[in-house]
Order: sequence, then C-alpha cells, then structure tokens
Amino acid sequence: MSAKLIDGKAAAAQLRSAIADEVTKFRAATGRAPGLAVVLVGEDPASAVYVRSKGKATIEAGMESFEYKLSADTPEAELLDLLDRLNADPAADGILVQLPLPAHINANKVITRIDPDKDVDGFNPVNAGRLAIGLHGFVPCTPLGCLKLLRAELGDLSGKSAVVIGRSNIVGKPMALLLLGDSCTVTIAHSRTRDLPAVVRQADIVVAAVGRAEMVKGDWLKPGACVIDVGINRLDPAEPGGKGRLVGDVDFASASQVAGAITPVPGGVGPMTIACLIRNTFVSAARRAAFRYGKDL
Ligand code: NAD
Repeated sequence: MSAKLIDGKAAAAQLRSAIADEVTKFRAATGRAPGLAVVLVGEDPASAVYVRSKGKATIEAGMESFEYKLSADTPEAELLDLLDRLNADPAADGILVQLPLPAHINANKVITRIDPDKDVDGFNPVNAGRLAIGLHGFVPCTPLGCLKLLRAELGDLSGKSAVVIGRSNIVGKPMALLLLGDSCTVTIAHSRTRDLPAVVRQADIVVAAVGRAEMVKGDWLKPGACVIDVGINRLDPAEPGGKGRLVGDVDFASASQVAGAITPVPGGVGPMTIACLIRNTFVSAARRAAFRYGKDL
C-alpha cells in the first residue's frame, strides 16, 4: 500500500474531546448542559445500535441524552405531537428522528416538522436551502465529517477537482455543495453517469457514497488522489472470502496502491459522522444561549 491511511477514528476522538472541553465551559457559564433528543420508532436492530451509540457519545461529551422509543405502530400524528413538544422544550438543543421510519409515516413530513434551528441532522428543507445558498445552518453530519477529514488532509481545497459519486439528499448532494463552498470544481456522478471510471480519473478528490461494495477500483483513480469512502456494505457471509465483512464502496486493496490518501472502512467516515452530530448539538446549544466558543469546531 502506498496511500496514507486517513484515521477517522483518531480525528473523531480529537473533535469529541475538543467539544467536551467546550461543553465544560458552557455548563459553567450557563448552569445547564446541552441536550440531544433522539426519537426511534420501531425495533429495527441497526437503528437501535445507531441510537445507542449516539446516546453514549452525547453523554461522553458531557451533554444530556433524551431517548424516545416509540412502538412501530405509533400513529404519525403522535410522532408529530412529540416533535412539537421537543421543539418547545428548552432542554432539547438538538432533535433527531432516526431513519428509516415505518412505511405508514411520511418521513418528509416528520423531518420538516423539526425546528430548523434544532435540526442537528441537517435534513430539514430549510437547512438544505441554507446550505445551497451559503447561509449558516445545520449541515448533515456525514458530509460535514468528510469535509473535515479532507481539510485536515489537504489543507486548502480551493481549485481542486472533486468527484462525488452518489446524489442522495443526506450524503451526495450536501457533500457536493460543501466542496463547492470550499471552491472545488465539483462533478456529481450517479447511476446514470456515462463512463464513470473516466469521470473519476479526473479527480483530485473522490467521495464515494453509493452503497455498492468495492465498486471504485484502483485503476479508476488519478495517482495521488484523496479518496473518502462513505459506503458501508456488509459482504454476504456465503461468498468466498466474504465472511460477513464490512467494506466500503471503494476496493481498498487496489485503490490504496494508487491513491495519495484514503479512508478505511470501518474506521474512516463512520466515527466522524457521530462526532459531527455531537458538534452540531453543541453548536445549537451555543447559538441558543449566545455562548461564544473559542475553537473552530
Ligand atoms: P442512497 O442509496 O440514498 O444513494 C446512493 C446513490 O448512489 C444514488 O444517488 C445513486 O444514483 C448512486 N448510485 C447507485 N448505483 C450507482 C452506480 N452503479 N454508479 C454510480 N452511482 C450509483 O445512499 P446514501 O444514503 O447516500 O448512502 C450511500 C452509502 O453510504 C451507503 O453504503 C450507506 O450505508 C453509506 N452511509 C454511510 C454513512 C456513514 O456514517 N459512514 C452515513 C450515511 C450513509
């Protein structure tokens, strides 16, 4: 392997510790802790794991975690009522509803109901609009984490050519807007893109957010490119060599021979996503209390 490994775990630990320091000062100044309310509807095991780790990280940062576990058959109106109460609750600086939601609940309606100034996931259309026109708001945690890793690795991103593979509302689109905000020349590739390897080969920065195991190969990359692998795919245990391993959207073995720097899966983008959620929750509390924090979090 010739590429430098981008250690997302270490970067996330550093960010979480910087936030914990700021939270200590916030508590001393305001007499209260920032709080994150997480709502889980149903018993999806993967969602339950995510909610548990978000709650744990919140508490480790010195903040309060409020978990609301609703049964899978909760009527949509009941969930919307809970969100109205949380919007009005001064202890909840951040509110998130774990996705996916059961089929009878309209996710767009739910996301739109969260107060945009408490929407620490950054999924509310108001925050998507703020990002699109360059206003302060909340940016979705996964692309924010990717941007932080890229800045730490490359410094100034201005003028670099970036290809984002994937155009989802939660990763691909906000990622492209963040890179544009840092003055990259941005291409968004997707399932209808023609000759994807040739498009990717132009890029100084590649962000893969597709959900297809090991799709991006080493010979698609410009030598020295910086590769951020957002994908989380579990290989079929029945496949030869599969063993149920977690892999990204990038074929790490071949890509790490060509890239200049690359994130691993696991241990790359994933830990930064949670650290950015903690960051957004602290920033929400700080804005609401007009608390000035020192560092650029
Ligand atoms: P999504 O399914 O909403 O979007 C996938 C995108 O990939 C689509 O825009 C589609 O056009 C594009 N695509 C599909 N097939 C393609 C192909 N053959 N060539 C080019 N583009 C193609 O997924 P998402 O929510 O954006 O997530 C993407 C991946 O990132 C998933 O593996 C998901 O598990 C992972 N993810 C990781 C984190 C994290 O914290 N690390 C967070 C969110 C998502």
